[in-house]
Amino acid sequence: KDFRNDIRPNWCPGCGDFSVQASIQRALAAMGKEPHEVAIISGIGCSGRISGYINTYGFHGVHGRSLPTAQGVKLANRNLTVIASGGDGDGFGIGLNHFMHAVRRNMDITYIVMDNQIYGLTKGQHSPTSAHGFKAKTTPEGNIENALVPTQIALAAGIGFLGQGFSSDVNQLVSLIQQGIQYKGFALINVFSPCVTYNKINTYDWYREHVYNLDNVPDYDPTDRAAAMKMVIETHGLCTGLIYKDESRVAYEDQVPGYAANPLVDEDLHLDAKVFEEAIREFA
Ligand code: SF4
Repeated sequence: KDFRNDIRPNWCPGCGDFSVQASIQRALAAMGKEPHEVAIISGIGCSGRISGYINTYGFHGVHGRSLPTAQGVKLANRNLTVIASGGDGDGFGIGLNHFMHAVRRNMDITYIVMDNQIYGLTKGQHSPTSAHGFKAKTTPEGNIENALVPTQIALAAGIGFLGQGFSSDVNQLVSLIQQGIQYKGFALINVFSPCVTYNKINTYDWYREHVYNLDNVPDYDPTDRAAAMKMVIETHGLCTGLIYKDESRVAYEDQVPGYAANPLVDEDLHLDAKVFEEAIREFA
């Protein structure tokens, strides 16, 4: 299966998003998916371009709104593997409200966030995940707000699958994406994806020095929610790997009474073209 297309990404050389793109492509190929079985829905930001760079169905929507769109796609065609993607500003700034409700709702969607702790597309403003004291164009004296920790918020909201990756560790990221897709419910994979152009603090070397890789902690139990929260707090949100997984949650789609296994897109809605046109005229 080839998930590559002819479009050349216009990310800056060295941007962490290249690894995220490659990891999604590798994960889908390893799972034996076909391009027509997958939809990637993205928001706005450098990360938002990813839906155009992978050979699947794609939708590049509006800022912070990839999740509502992804949920609509999933409801219309539950047979699709739906991946929502975004950035830290996109998903945890304007899109945070949608994120909390997506966690609560628990549709079978994998949400991959490229978290670089800055707004890259708009040329370097501090973002919700920028650390306290972080200097950016908008915070020349240092950020006076505390950083939002996505993994902490996700656990507090009751997420069923939580992973965190790093663009430099593609093998781990591929594995997390596969596990997220296999999980029957809403999965967040937050990825430390360095912005090499505007964030000169959180570089590849900075992450290499600071991440705490749970793959190297044999007695860590990702089914223990309290332990997961403790780990996230103690590592200041910098642990990578599978942080938490709850197999007991049931996906939204599987709870809708009478929701047929047959996708909505395959239903014959018996639409009468005349009635439809009249309705449109009425509201025009
Ligand atoms: Fe990547 Fe930053 Fe360049 Fe955007 S500005 S493409 S996030 S390196």
